[in-house]
Amino acid sequence: MSFDFDSLVDEGAVKAALAKYNDDAFLSIRQNRLESVIAEMEKRAVDVLILSLGADLPWLCGYEAMPLERLTALVVTRDAQMTLVVPELEAPRVREMPELFDLLPWKEGVNPFAIVSGLVGSAQSLAVSDRMWASALLSLQAEIPSAKSYVASSEVISPLRSQKDEVELLLLARAAHITDHVAESIFAGEIGFLGKSEKEISDEISRRLIAEGLSKVNFAIVGSGPNSASPHHEPSSRKIEFGDSVVLDFGGLYNLGDEVGYCSDATRTVVVGEAPTGFGELYSVLEAAQEKARTSVNSEMSGAQSDALAREVIAEAGFGEYFIHRTGHGIGIEEHEEPYLVVTNKEPLGPFAAFSIEPGIYIPSKYGARIEDICVVGEHRGASLNRSDRSLHVVE
Ligand code: ZN
Ligand code: ZN
Ligand code: ZN
Repeated sequence: MSFDFDSLVDEGAVKAALAKYNDDAFLSIRQNRLESVIAEMEKRAVDVLILSLGADLPWLCGYEAMPLERLTALVVTRDAQMTLVVPELEAPRVREMPELFDLLPWKEGVNPFAIVSGLVGSAQSLAVSDRMWASALLSLQAEIPSAKSYVASSEVISPLRSQKDEVELLLLARAAHITDHVAESIFAGEIGFLGKSEKEISDEISRRLIAEGLSKVNFAIVGSGPNSASPHHEPSSRKIEFGDSVVLDFGGLYNLGDEVGYCSDATRTVVVGEAPTGFGELYSVLEAAQEKARTSVNSEMSGAQSDALAREVIAEAGFGEYFIHRTGHGIGIEEHEEPYLVVTNKEPLGPFAAFSIEPGIYIPSKYGARIEDICVVGEHRGASLNRSDRSLHVVE
């Protein structure tokens, strides 16, 4: 892929580039994805791929199944035929793309697993959605006696989904820029902190994310004072006090037209009034660690090597035991997807991966801090899509 990497950090350039994508462009993108899926199926000796719930389905055919009990299944065979089997009542929601897939609605009272079985034929090796319900998989297995082996669809699709194509990089950049605007409004003092509850601040951040252009808020974590030491804290009724540190971790979905949305996810930490004792030192270490990882990560590094970048800086400063989670996660249609920046991942991140870099230091029941950006790596070097200031801001 030839791609001007620097243009990803330029908000105007990203908007202009996205404006060129119409339905025809997305159709040819999906035809390319289908081609790469078929190649991956051949490589892994998978005869038929069956997608159901989860993000693989919209990535490939643009349709997202409701997480309900009625079966939705996209059946993909090695000759590149795709058939979308959907409950009749959900068929009107499908954006039809006859050049890409056939639509096959099933009527109430009919056994949809028998329909899928008919499409699978005598295939022996199947890949099925990671997130297909166990009850659906059991019914499917009963209906397809010829099938000898099943693997998770992620084995076929994750290596492809973790290499973003141009439009995905642009959509992630757009989502990141919108999220940065909200971070900047916080630094500019547009949201008062003192005396407000975490929940109130979380609601205000959510409101601003939508106003700036996201279609949905996935989360807006506000952890203040001792709660800032809890990485996935649920915003509570605790009122913000003078001298609190506050971890703000928020993100949501950006949709271009009716296309499937892409996620943002960013964390900034602020202090209210003044930094608590010792917090400035902790924050400087964190800032250096995050910068190290963000600026030296590259596509050839494994998940484990990239995780170590920030971890070493934090450990050398004596805070190692307080960095209690992995450094990051891939991001795309899902908030958390492959590749993971974690000690157990020995695979290279790969070109055009998109992922968070989010080290944190948490002193239990005292305070904590995290800095998180979404980064992408090209053939070699990387860039942060988030551009909002990372230094420690004092708010009131
Ligand atoms: Zn998280
Ligand atoms: Zn986050
Ligand atoms: Zn994250």
